[in-house]
Amino acid sequence: MCNLYPAAGVLHNRMAKKGRIEIDGEKCKGCYLCISVCPAKVIEPAEIPNKQGVFAARAAGGGCVACGSCYVMCPDICITVFETEGAS
Ligand code: SF4
Ligand code: SF4
Repeated sequence: MCNLYPAAGVLHNRMAKKGRIEIDGEKCKGCYLCISVCPAKVIEPAEIPNKQGVFAARAAGGGCVACGSCYVMCPDICITVFETEGAS
């Protein structure tokens, strides 16, 4: 479930945005498509597997630009993107 993205104005001034993501680590199947598309390289595989034995994707520190690429790419809708600071 995604409760923010896409939202009005998301594509406007996208490069100046800052954000963060939350990943449902129990839904994630470890395809890592999100990692492959993240321009900020702020998603990584977890070090500990989930209940299904999958090393789920997880957020890896700051630098998210709220571009939404990971949300769009995830086949199982595991990722929620939050915009934490908009462009002025
Ligand atoms: S794209 Fe979705 S299912 Fe694939 S690793 Fe990322 S969060 Fe997990
Ligand atoms: S919203 Fe963009 S920058 Fe942020 S984690 Fe997802 S792909 Fe990376």
